[in-house]
Amino acid sequence: MKEPCSQLWQKLSLALKPKVSADTYKRWFSALELVDYSDDALSFRVPNNIYQFWIESNHMAALQEAVMKALGEPRQIKFVLPSGVTADGDKTLDISTEPESATYDDLKGARLPAGLNPRNTFESFVVGSNNQIAHAACLAVAQSPARTYNPLFIYGGVGLGKTHLMQAIGQSVWSKKKNNRVMYLSSEVFINEFIDAIQHSTLVKFRKRYRQADVLLIDDIQFLGGKERSQEEFFHTFNALFDGHKQIVLSSDRPASEIANLEHRLVSRFEWGLTAELQPPDIETRVAILRKKARALKVKLNDEVFDFLANRIRSNVRRLEGALMRVASFASLTSGRELTPEAIENLLKDILQEEARNTITIEQIQRRVAEHFDVRLADMTSKRRPANIAFPRQVAMYLARELTKASLNEIGEAFGGRDHGTVLHACKLVKKRMKEQDNIRQTISFIDSSLQR
Ligand code: ADP
Ligand code: MG
Repeated sequence: MKEPCSQLWQKLSLALKPKVSADTYKRWFSALELVDYSDDALSFRVPNNIYQFWIESNHMAALQEAVMKALGEPRQIKFVLPSGVTADGDKTLDISTEPESATYDDLKGARLPAGLNPRNTFESFVVGSNNQIAHAACLAVAQSPARTYNPLFIYGGVGLGKTHLMQAIGQSVWSKKKNNRVMYLSSEVFINEFIDAIQHSTLVKFRKRYRQADVLLIDDIQFLGGKERSQEEFFHTFNALFDGHKQIVLSSDRPASEIANLEHRLVSRFEWGLTAELQPPDIETRVAILRKKARALKVKLNDEVFDFLANRIRSNVRRLEGALMRVASFASLTSGRELTPEAIENLLKDILQEEARNTITIEQIQRRVAEHFDVRLADMTSKRRPANIAFPRQVAMYLARELTKASLNEIGEAFGGRDHGTVLHACKLVKKRMKEQDNIRQTISFIDSSLQR
């Protein structure tokens, strides 16, 4: 006899809970209902399409892992909407850019290569001055793989669209020619599969699989840092593909040269083609992104709401989207009630706090540290080196590294034109002293938390 859906969902939830934060679980998964399942698919009912959108964009990997854990094999995941329920009470919402029946796995009949989210396309990507070059490079690569930039190396902070653009390349190439072998994965998956292959003596198969790719998209390559054997293996994969005129696209949260413990020969190969940076979007781009997402979700919000969100969340598009989803969800549940700035502020409290943490500047850090150690702000940038100044300066460099997105070079620059080696040395030294001396650790964590308020 078939196990009741509720029972299976309970098993799945147990496997899922450790994989997402408690808040995420409560906010997005507790409202899900497993309404049907078979040997190949699971169907979940979601309260509205905002849930589907958010889970598909952010939590599919966790959900799939939970399915693997609970059922021992993957299943296709489908979402169904309660019929007739909508945010504004007319008809069911759907996400406009895709065919209505789109599911995660089988868009347009044939199976999308594993790991690609059908929403991450060039059409759904908003181009602004912050991402123009990266976007153009990705388009060029998608149009003629291995003939323009190879490899293409995209880097930038969290939530700025690296994964979106890589996946857009993957889908574009694949949709033009379905027999193109597109592989998309994170470097963590590469590392894990490599370790498995060693353990099970299946290296030949592992190598063959990767070397068959026409387009290899490796996300978050920074995780290769420090993994020597995986680097060695990736080096050979890279060479085989490159020599075979296959396209390689890599993403990272920092430039290749700043990935700690990455072999020089890999750094230099990663720099062979084109390197493009993604920066945080400017205000116009942020508003454009919000409008586009809202339109896709068919939620109507007035301009003040968009302005509020775009003004308050600047550093991360994923966070911006998260805020929009929360506001949209709230609006759909309280239709008619005013979305006042106070109400939004309250609704987004934690998101806004997170954002504040992200926008600390090096100058604020220098001021705060100078004040704390009772030295002059000018000492932060001066060439003077007495210990009573040198140490506070090193602490400030360390905090700048921890609390801002600035690169080592940028930090050195902000401290009176020091080179990145000096900054790196300062960070190491401060870390070491924090380990050894409780009072130093306490002082620094005190300054740290006072900065984040
Ligand atoms: P990263 O991989 O850089 O951390 P993602 O590609 O996962 O970031 O992007 C985070 C979220 O923001 C995704 O939902 C993505 O679709 C969205 N996003 C980022 N940049 C843009 C953009 N320019 N236009 C539309 N959506 C964007
Ligand atoms: Mg990413």
